[in-house]
Order: sequence, then structure tokens, then C-alpha cells
Amino acid sequence: MHNILSIDVEDYFHLMEHPLLPGPSEWDNLPSRVQSNFTKLLDLFIEKGVKGTCFFLGWVAERFPNLVKTAADSGFGIASHGYYHRPVYKQVPDEFGEDVSRAKKVCEDITGKEVYGYRAPAFSITERTPWAMEKLIEAGYRYDSSIFPASRDFGGLIIDKLKPHIIKTARGSILEFPISITNVLGKRFYFFGGGYFRLFPYWMIKMMAQKVIAQGRPIILYIHPRDIDSGQPRYRLGLVRNFKSYVNLGSTEDKLRRFMDDFKFTSYDKWLKMYKSVVT
Ligand SMILES: [Zn+2]
Repeated sequence: MHNILSIDVEDYFHLMEHPLLPGPSEWDNLPSRVQSNFTKLLDLFIEKGVKGTCFFLGWVAERFPNLVKTAADSGFGIASHGYYHRPVYKQVPDEFGEDVSRAKKVCEDITGKEVYGYRAPAFSITERTPWAMEKLIEAGYRYDSSIFPASRDFGGLIIDKLKPHIIKTARGSILEFPISITNVLGKRFYFFGGGYFRLFPYWMIKMMAQKVIAQGRPIILYIHPRDIDSGQPRYRLGLVRNFKSYVNLGSTEDKLRRFMDDFKFTSYDKWLKMYKSVVT
């Protein structure tokens, strides 16, 4: 089975919610690194002959429309990561609706094509946001990949259906691609993105990937442009968060290359075309 590659396109200062992190009013004054990091990441995947889906933060897409264009022209899918990168559970339903509509429109204006996939910042669709899927449907989204079915900082929603599936709401249906967790000693863990991907050794990531695939599920890999940037400015977010945010940045590229050699990856759209019957 093919797996799914996703890139959350945001800058190094778009980390989640900490008093020492700059707010949106300060973002324009910071030196940006997303352009070079994203281009490097895209080149790595192109070199490996792999196409995936890019979830653009609306704020980034608006400032760097060339990145959206380059990704689309290179055959990558374009989806939305919301506009301001605020946790979903910190927004009221209408605010969330506006944020996801704005990001969708920014990306559509650049590509001239419909954008209908969404990923929440830090997988922050939780028990506290039972209205989130309805708001996404109202905004015109057709698939979501925000549910992280294990506990984690800022997000996590424990659900039983781990395969891609349809969620029905009073406003219609949406396709959900839960992040691919795996059981280790009775606990749910994730190995295929962000700090987890940087932290664990490659042999373990590979073994866990084989376990997910053996259960008939695709691996959903998520990566940020900053995950390959050892030289990024580092914020002081406390010991644990600094570890999670900055551990092993130098190891990511090599692991990605090996992962792309050992497993087949594609975008959400192409995966859906190939495996429609898997989704129930
Ligand atoms: Zn993000």
C-alpha cells in the first residue's frame, strides 16, 4: 500500500502557544527561513521521485505565493493549515470558520484550483471542539487530517477508527485521515513526524511503519520545513518543549531519504484515487 506524505508549511516561529513566542503582529518583523527550508525539503522529495500534500499556513502562503506555485507546479497537492496557527480549541466556532475559509481562499487564489484538505495546527481538534468538522464542511473542505488518536500536547482525540473513514455530521460528511499511531505495550505512540521522527532511531521508525502497514493502514508522515533546519533561532520554551522542538534536527534529512527508499509515499488525492475502497 502507498503511504501519505504531508508537509505543514510554516516558519520556525510558528511553534505552538508559549508566552515567549512572538504573536502574529510580530511575525512580519522576523527574519523568515521558510523559503529556503521548504525549497530544500521539496528538492529532497523531488530527488526521491516522491510527491505529497503541502498544508500551507495561510499567513505563509500569502507572503510567499511562489512557494505554493512551485509546489503545485511540481505536482504536489495543495491543502490548508488554517491562517493564523491558533489552536482550534482556543477559537469560538465562527472564528475557526473564518480562519479556515481565509486560508482556503488565499491558496485557491494562488493556484486557481479548489483547495479542500485541512490540517489543524498541532492536531488541535479535540473533545473540546465537537463543532470543528461541521465548520470545515461549511467552509467547503472535503477531507481533514487533524485527528491525532493518542494523547499529546495541544491536541489528541482518542477515537477507535484508525483507518481513513467518513465522519457524518448534521452539515454533511467529511473524510478523516487520522494520524497513524501504533500500539506499543498497550499504549498509543506516533513515530512518523515532528519531534518523534527526529527523536527515534531509524530502525525503530521502520519497524513501527511495517506494523502500521500490516494492519491495513497507510503511514501518514508529517514534516515541517523547520525540521531540517539546525541553524534556526531557538526559543526558550522550557526543558521538555525545547527538547521536543529541537532534538536531532540534523538527523531528519537522512531519515527522510531512507524512509522514502524503504516505503512508497504519495499525496492524499492520489492515495484516495488508488484506495477509495479502503475508506468506510
Ligand atoms: Zn503547524
